[in-house]
Amino acid sequence: LCHDGYLIGSISPATMVGYVGTIGVGLVLFDRKIVYSALIPATIILTACTYLSMKGALLYAPLFNFKAMEHAQTNPFWLGSMAFFIMPILLACFILFEILLTQWRQRETYIQRLSQLDPLTNVLNRRSLNTHLESMHQQQVDYAIVLLDIDHFKKINDIYGHHQGDQVLIEIAQCLSENLRNEDIIGRFGGEEFILLLPHTDIIQAEKIAERCRQALQELPVCSTQNNPIHISASFGISSSAFAQDPYLVIRQADQALYAVKASGRNQVRTFHQTEAIQTL
Ligand code: GH3
Ligand code: MG
Ligand code: MG
Repeated sequence: LCHDGYLIGSISPATMVGYVGTIGVGLVLFDRKIVYSALIPATIILTACTYLSMKGALLYAPLFNFKAMEHAQTNPFWLGSMAFFIMPILLACFILFEILLTQWRQRETYIQRLSQLDPLTNVLNRRSLNTHLESMHQQQVDYAIVLLDIDHFKKINDIYGHHQGDQVLIEIAQCLSENLRNEDIIGRFGGEEFILLLPHTDIIQAEKIAERCRQALQELPVCSTQNNPIHISASFGISSSAFAQDPYLVIRQADQALYAVKASGRNQVRTFHQTEAIQTL
């Protein structure tokens, strides 16, 4: 930078582009200390060259004979020289920033995806599910919510171990996903509880979907590492946006229905309204 800058002019456009480009590329590729330890002497040298040229002690841009060039700014040799020095720097900066930007975007997408998923089961986590729920509420989409809790899951952990319990949760999430429609959303609500968010779905349709999932889980062939079959069942509680304004109230109603199923023998599907009807009897 100092040598070529001196030859073509310490304050010429090419030197300035080189100066800024080198700092940018340097800071991206190397440690700051390395960049600054080169940048400070280079700045001093270029400033000194400019000062000495102004004082007449040093020839400014000895590559060019400015006296012979009538209009230096339009002289083909001057223009060609500037382009010759500027182009490689600009090209290197462009390629580097393009690579960095692509990597940064890919990482951003990956991190965003990770922040939305439950790390064990790969279904949505609760925070992300809440976002979907709130957006549906704001857009005034009718939806149903199904809460499900695996029955006696603690026993599976106690008998087969926590690691096997984790595998069962993964298979359950996969089985539920396979039994939902494309627009349905599944999330992990808590330890062994899942939530299904069913857009444009009334309570009757939701009951059918929940029943399909219940049967699929009951028939899910899961085996322990010793090849023993593990029996799985789950209890389902349902509510719908048609019956409550606040989306979190819809969840609470589904939870109440789920609680009622747990109290009356498990492995069933029940809506909040059935629960209420039973209570009023
Ligand atoms: P119930 O039918 O009443 O729901 O009985 P339960 O045993 O399923 O319910 P309980 O709340 O007593 O126990 C839930 C168990 O789920 C206890 C906890 O250790 C287990 N659990 C929660 N999260 C995980 C997890 O990520 N992995 C594993 N392996 N187990 C989990
Ligand atoms: Mg539970
Ligand atoms: Mg449970």
